[in-house]
Amino acid sequence: MFRQTILFCILFTGFLFAQVDSALVEVISVNPHIQLDLRYATDNNFLHQKVYPEPRCFLRYEAARALDDVQKELENIGLGLKIYDGYRPLSVQKKMWEIMPNAHYVANPKKGSRHNRGMAVDLTLVDTNGKELPMPTGFDSFSKKAHQDYWNLPTNILRNRWILRTVMEKHGFKPIRTEWWHYDYKGWKKYKVLDASFKKLEGKK
Ligand SMILES: [Zn+2]
Repeated sequence: MFRQTILFCILFTGFLFAQVDSALVEVISVNPHIQLDLRYATDNNFLHQKVYPEPRCFLRYEAARALDDVQKELENIGLGLKIYDGYRPLSVQKKMWEIMPNAHYVANPKKGSRHNRGMAVDLTLVDTNGKELPMPTGFDSFSKKAHQDYWNLPTNILRNRWILRTVMEKHGFKPIRTEWWHYDYKGWKKYKVLDASFKKLEGKK
């Protein structure tokens, strides 16, 4: 009986601390109304280089489902989402680090970026015509103005940032202080860093 209890405790502890590994899904397969502007598949990014082979956005299933809820809620007030970045394979993270080996701009691939876990998303708001709403800065501006606690901004911009944050938080996403466009889905730390290419993920639901 004692041995069985010990074995149960070991197995249960293993279960508690095991890393979670749910499937990555393509966001537009969950909600085709979410717009994409995947900047790393173009040279319109701070690296001025295309580092993604294709403009595709994958996220872990839980995060994609939650984003679907965010989109539906925003549509009720005449708004929607536009995604700049989602899951990023670790090999791309290494490539970005080679181009810019500076932790102020790029996460060190030794630790991995939150985006490598498929639980982080960079995004903004658009109106019914797909036009981006004014926000504090452009995507990947590494300035103080991009911080969530920067308040010296016009009222409409403060309101837009607040709407995005309120609806994202309601559906389980957490903001980070330094980038108004970046959100992590709850529990992201438990998820593994991945290196599956977009091609490999293709067709998986
Ligand atoms: Zn991000």
